[in-house]
Order: sequence, then structure tokens, then C-alpha cells
Amino acid sequence: MKDPERCRAVFLDLNGTLILPLLADNPGEYQLIAESIGAVALLSTAGFVCPVITVQSRIEKGIYSEADFREWFESFRAAFAEKGASIVGPYVCPHRNRTPCACKKPAGLLYQRAAAELAIDLAASFVIGDTREDLEAARGLGCRGILVRTGWPVGGEVEVLADHVADNVLAAARWILASTGRPNQALHPTAAGAIVRGRG
Ligand SMILES: [Mg+2]
Ligand SMILES: [Zn+2]
Repeated sequence: MKDPERCRAVFLDLNGTLILPLLADNPGEYQLIAESIGAVALLSTAGFVCPVITVQSRIEKGIYSEADFREWFESFRAAFAEKGASIVGPYVCPHRNRTPCACKKPAGLLYQRAAAELAIDLAASFVIGDTREDLEAARGLGCRGILVRTGWPVGGEVEVLADHVADNVLAAARWILASTGRPNQALHPTAAGAIVRGRG
């Protein structure tokens, strides 16, 4: 049963889920996966808040800076908002794999931070991502996890961690809407704002 005081979220991975290539030397090289904006627009309209949770190890490696990444993300967010698709964040782990940290997926820290800031009901929420770490994070948080096929190739041992496997983020969003029935009556403020801007 959904907590009426809290909103539902779809936590979105970035590289391999919303954008490609998987690795770039400069954030300006990232291109939208074609279905991304339509997918987020559907979720926003249905009242889901969509925080972007991402590991950007290239920041700690010094390939690009966190400031450059965040600046690029603002233009990325604006491209979504123009179409009524509202993304929140980014919630970023800037650390490389070998660096022990509390924020790297599958740790739940960044998701929990978003949940606290945005009053998210984790038990009524979803994670969409392309890797084992996204799905393990979902399990740890009590969210449902959806694996998309647009990023890193993964095998059956990862697929079994998913509640659903989708060709891309749009198919994942449609599955979420089909499995949750009626849209929320009360839109999350960020989602409602995006719709108003999108129509304006
Ligand atoms: Mg990814
Ligand atoms: Zn980290």
C-alpha cells in the first residue's frame, strides 16, 4: 500500500540507460538514447518523481570535472523539461571502482538521500538501470528493479536479479505504468512543474 504522504519514484541510471556512450572523455559527447525523453514524460505525467543516480568515476580519474559534468547535466535536464519530462538530481558518486566509498552503487546512500529530500516512498518505487549494481541497489532498498538492454551487456546471472527486463527505458516505463495501474492523484511538485512548463 502506498504511503499517501510520500510520492513514488523511478530512480534512473544515466549511462547506458538514458545516454550513450557508456564512457566519454567529455560530457559533451553524451547523446540521448532516443526513447529517454518520452519515457520520462510518461513517468512524470503519471506522478512519478525521477531522480538520476549515477556513478561518474571519470571525475575522480580527472578525465572531466564534477563542475563540467554538472554543467552538462543542466542542459540535459532542460532538454527533458522542454518536453514535459522532469528529472531530478544528479545524485553523483564521483569515485573510481577501487576507491572505497559509501556512495557507489549498489550502496543505497544516494537513493536514500534523494528519498529523504523528495519524500519518496521506497517500497512503492522502481529503479531502472543497465547493470548488476543498479539491480542490487534496488533489492537493498526494497524497490522493484528493471534491467534495460541499452547499456553494458549482461548475462542471465544479472537478469535474474531484475523484476523485469526491458529493451529500453521507454519499454521499462510502460511496464511500470502497466504494473501500477492508475496514475497518482497528487502529482509530485517537480512533475507538475514540468508539465506546466512543457505546455507553456
Ligand atoms: Mg549504467
Ligand atoms: Zn562514491
